[in-house]
Amino acid sequence: MPRTLTINGQEISARSDQTILEAARDAHIHIPVLCHLDGLTDVGACRMCLVEVAGSNKLLPACTTRVQEGMEVRTDTERLRAYRRQIIELLFAERNHVCAVCVANGHCELQNLGIEVGMDHVRYDYIFPTLGVDLSHERFGMDHNRCILCTRCVRACDQLEGAHTIDVMGRGAKSLIIRDMNVPWGESITCTSCGKCVMACPTGALFKQGSTVAEMVHDAEKLAFLRAAREKRVWNV
Ligand code: SF4
Ligand code: SF4
Repeated sequence: MPRTLTINGQEISARSDQTILEAARDAHIHIPVLCHLDGLTDVGACRMCLVEVAGSNKLLPACTTRVQEGMEVRTDTERLRAYRRQIIELLFAERNHVCAVCVANGHCELQNLGIEVGMDHVRYDYIFPTLGVDLSHERFGMDHNRCILCTRCVRACDQLEGAHTIDVMGRGAKSLIIRDMNVPWGESITCTSCGKCVMACPTGALFKQGSTVAEMVHDAEKLAFLRAAREKRVWNV
C-alpha cells in the first residue's frame, strides 16, 4: 500500500517499507549520508541524514525511519545545516584528517561532505590521538587515524563477504576497528583478502598498499551491485 507524504513541500508517493532516505532518493531529493552505503543494512550511526518531521521534536535519521502516511519531512533547514556542519567538524577534530597527506585526498566522502556543508574551519579543539597504522596485510592497509567509526567495513565484511573478520572494540571515540581477536590484519585467519572492506570505506582509513592518491578510489558502488546480484541470483551481466 503506497504512502503519500511531503518532502520539502513536494508531494511524493512511496512504498510503505521504504525509509525516508529511499523515498527522497526516488524523488531526486538529496540527503547527505556517511555511514549509509547502498547494499548494506543501515545503523543510523553518523547522524548526517537527520531530517525534521512535523510533530516530532527530535530530529530523525532518514536512513532508518520508515515513511508514514501524511508525513511532512524537511531535509534542508537552517537547523539541519548547522547540525550537519557540527557533525563534520567533530569528526575532523576527533582524529587526524589532514587531507593533504591522505591517500584518499580527492576521493574521500568525509572531505566531500566537509565541502558540501561549507566547513571552512573547525571550532573544536583537535584531539588527534596517535593511533597505529596496520600494514601487516600483503595487499591492504589500515590507518586508524583516518577512521570515523562508521562501521561500513564491519558490515561489508559480515553481510557481503560473510567472513565477519572485522569488529569494533571499545566504546565511543576510543573505539577501534579490529580483526578477529585484535590481531594484525595479516595474521587474521578468517580474512579472505576480498577487499570489500576497502571498497566500503568512505575515508583513507582502509587502502590498497602501493596505491598513489590518484589510484586510491574506493569502489563502493560495486558492493551494491554484488548485493543486488546475489539477491536476484543474476551473476552473468
Ligand atoms: S578483505 Fe574481505 S574478508 Fe578481509 S577483512 Fe576485508 S572484507 Fe573482511
Ligand atoms: S575503517 Fe573505514 S569503513 Fe571502517 S569504520 Fe573506519 S572509516 Fe568506516
